[in-house]
Amino acid sequence: MMPARDPDYILDVEGLREGTEDPGCSAPKRRWIGIRFDCCNVYHRVYKTKDGTWYRGWCPRCLREVRIRVGPGGTDARFFIAR
Ligand SMILES: [Zn+2]
Repeated sequence: MMPARDPDYILDVEGLREGTEDPGCSAPKRRWIGIRFDCCNVYHRVYKTKDGTWYRGWCPRCLREVRIRVGPGGTDARFFIAR
């Protein structure tokens, strides 16, 4: 069984900018960023919450939660590692 409870991943990403839409596609898309979960060494997409202030998702294998706070400013980084 799993240990009692690992702390959730909470990443504070300063300057994280919302992903840009594909300019060739006008259909609205959910914002997402790519996360590598170090716990299980897997990549997974994490989608934005309804209020638009967090990206939130779970490790596809062990279901550990990850939350990424969206900061002001701009960076094109779209992939992060949850350690
Ligand atoms: Zn995991």
